[in-house]
Amino acid sequence: MTELSKKKSSYDIIIIGGGPAGLTAGIYTARGRLSSLLIERGLIGGLITETELVENFPGFPQGVSGFELGELMHQQAQKYGLPILVAEVTGLKLKGKQKIVETTEGSYSARAVIIASGAIPTNNKLETAIPGIFAVGDVRASSARQAVVAAGDGATAAIYAEKFLTG
Ligand SMILES: Cc1cc2nc3c(=O)[nH]c(=O)nc-3n(C[C@H](O)[C@H](O)[C@H](O)COP(=O)(O)OP(=O)(O)OC[C@H]3O[C@@H](n4cnc5c(N)ncnc54)[C@H](O)[C@@H]3O)c2cc1C
Repeated sequence: MTELSKKKSSYDIIIIGGGPAGLTAGIYTARGRLSSLLIERGLIGGLITETELVENFPGFPQGVSGFELGELMHQQAQKYGLPILVAEVTGLKLKGKQKIVETTEGSYSARAVIIASGAIPTNNKLETAIPGIFAVGDVRASSARQAVVAAGDGATAAIYAEKFLTG
């Protein structure tokens, strides 16, 4: 992990969340030479690190373990010198030019904040009102027929899809 070498407290951009979305943002901003800070409270790589085999990520025709994919994204961010702070974001003050991000490791400011804090996974079987359609992500129940493919949490997408399909 790229340590916060100097105790800097002001950045161009602060990114909250070190999952695929936050790391992607961080790779772009650090590579673009914006002074950036990514804040993650848990494992770098986010939720994808929990899955054994990711088979739908372009560039990995044989699939890749979620943990390894997270680690590769982390390495790519490190290559561009993205500093990562391991802390929990506890508060945000977004009014005014300088945005304030409060964490368990102190307060930081930035001109812009990217929130990539992910979604909370739902349980395994969220049956919808449409027979045979379950509001689950593709990895949660292999027996469930898929009606919706979406980036992010498939369960949320399916719940919305049901609304439109039945409405
Ligand atoms: C078991 C499982 C298997 C999966 N398998 C696949 C698959 O095979 N293919 C696929 O495409 N997708 C898969 N997914 C979905 C994939 O993991 C998510 O779509 C992806 O991780 C979303 O990325 P994200 O960066 O938006 O959010 P996340 O990965 O959720 O990252 C958000 C990060 O923000 C951090 N965070 C949140 N709040 C705070 C805070 N207050 N302070 C600091 N940090 C905070 C969290 O700790 C987390 O690390 C799977 C998900 C699960 C749970």
